[in-house]
Amino acid sequence: MQEAEMALARPLTFAERVWFRYSAQIPDFWLYCHNILFLFLIFSIAPLPLAFIDINNSKSLSKYKLQPKIRLPSHAIFKCYRDVMLMFIFIVGPLQLCSYPTVKLLGIRTGLPLPSGWEIFFQLLVYFLIEDYLNYWIHRLLHCKWGYEKIHRVHHEFTAPIGYAAPYAHWAEILILGIPSFVGPALVPGHMITFWLWIALRQMEAIDTHSGYDFPLSPAKYIPLYGGAEYHDYHHYVGGQSQSNFASVFTYCDYIYGTDKGYRYQKQHLVKLREQWGGGEQNGEAYHDPSEDQKSK
Ligand SMILES: [Zn+2]
Ligand SMILES: [Zn+2]
Repeated sequence: MQEAEMALARPLTFAERVWFRYSAQIPDFWLYCHNILFLFLIFSIAPLPLAFIDINNSKSLSKYKLQPKIRLPSHAIFKCYRDVMLMFIFIVGPLQLCSYPTVKLLGIRTGLPLPSGWEIFFQLLVYFLIEDYLNYWIHRLLHCKWGYEKIHRVHHEFTAPIGYAAPYAHWAEILILGIPSFVGPALVPGHMITFWLWIALRQMEAIDTHSGYDFPLSPAKYIPLYGGAEYHDYHHYVGGQSQSNFASVFTYCDYIYGTDKGYRYQKQHLVKLREQWGGGEQNGEAYHDPSEDQKSK
């Protein structure tokens, strides 16, 4: 540790001392493999509270559910979890292991000094923007007839998504959409801690946008141009015919390329109808047209 302090010509910070003690005993390859553990843990734990709410049919929280009339039974939720875990074990895990030489080549470092908070923030911002832009176009291509029927149809089996369905997709889609995750770190390589954070945050974002709930006090609402659950839920609600809301994180691509018009029209249309009929929960029935109830009476 003294050698590290001499090399940096300053005392190590607390975080640097912790990192030094931890990383000095572990080969870089195993540090990189932590990502697999984080993926398993985050995917197993983060969607759990909302899955319990769904199974218990909590009345007080159902007003925040985007498609409250659709409730999956517990065995369907468990099947989704099991299928994704199998894909993690047989596709994502091995892919992570095989990609280690690429990560080394990109120059992702594991030593000291640790990156500053601002360095981490700006690198993560670049990673998110690059991946969002590339994913927008890949996702849009997957909605062509061939791409949808052969690959993307699997992800759209959930017309009312749940957190566990975020990575539920054809193995080919997992491989294709995995590539943009590496473009940002390839162009702006950072520290291993930034890379861990990137993979963890990206997964948490995907779970959030597939959660099926739109909570008014969600901190994610303060992120500029963030699409969120309602935005992506609409894409699943429309299904295979959807030509709207392709972006996975931000809304700017859909706005620039005009692929959010259906969504925006629908939102305006529903606001007017709710004012007209005076019914419907503000967040409870995001796409439910109140006039349909009146017609059916
Ligand atoms: Zn889609
Ligand atoms: Zn989705």
